[in-house]
Amino acid sequence: MFSPMAVTTGKIKKNLQRIHDGITEACNRSGRNPDEVMIIAVTKSVDFATVKNALDAGLTNLGENRATQLVERMTQMRAYLQRRRNASPGDVTWHMVGHVQRNKVKAVLDGADVIHSVDSLRLAEEIGSRAERMETNPRVLLQVNCSQEAQKFGVAVGAAMHLAESICTMKNIRVIGLMTMAPLSSDPEVVRPTFTRLRELFEEMHKDEIGGDEFRHLSMGMSQDYTIAVEEGATLLRIGTALFE
Ligand SMILES: *Cc1c(COP(=O)(O)O)cnc(C)c1O
Repeated sequence: MFSPMAVTTGKIKKNLQRIHDGITEACNRSGRNPDEVMIIAVTKSVDFATVKNALDAGLTNLGENRATQLVERMTQMRAYLQRRRNASPGDVTWHMVGHVQRNKVKAVLDGADVIHSVDSLRLAEEIGSRAERMETNPRVLLQVNCSQEAQKFGVAVGAAMHLAESICTMKNIRVIGLMTMAPLSSDPEVVRPTFTRLRELFEEMHKDEIGGDEFRHLSMGMSQDYTIAVEEGATLLRIGTALFE
């Protein structure tokens, strides 16, 4: 499943520097502050040794797209950090970026601090009731299918306002923003409208006073398209390949 060799800390740092440069340039083009943009290292296709190296390279926001691997990694990391002196498990934030089945909600809540992929009322209700029993207050983002591709997860653009409004009233859930995935294309003019649409939707929600103070994130942009996402207002980038290739 994973490549036989771990990616070294040095290599990850080099990749990270290149990505930071790309973010800075995109921010300069769009008049934004690079401090508003955070990188989530998506570690789904690397081994655990590489995850540890990512941490050493300074990446403390880690993302997985499957519940099982998320919990496994989080547990491994917790044990590893408890053995280490200069870091604690609390220093790592785990992000669930993949689709969540309702029967996996408990596992996901055990592992993740942030869930990027809430896309239905039923899922949100399951998260809310589990969280209440577990006495936690998970942070979530609403995943929107901005590219309108039939095979994509995410709530339809036209239904997003209503869903956001409903979820924002749930007691144990903290809604921190919106998430989307662009079509797989290296053509900026195919990708960009997806990000623009998410930002416009976000602005509309703000105008309607949906969401509280914490509602301020746009999770969009991956290895292929993060500079475009930053130009369009992304605050959370989910990056795998460009960090670990
Ligand atoms: C894998 C994955 C990413 C990262 O993709 P890369 O192209 O490797 O940067 C981001 N978001 C989600 C939901 C993913 O599954």
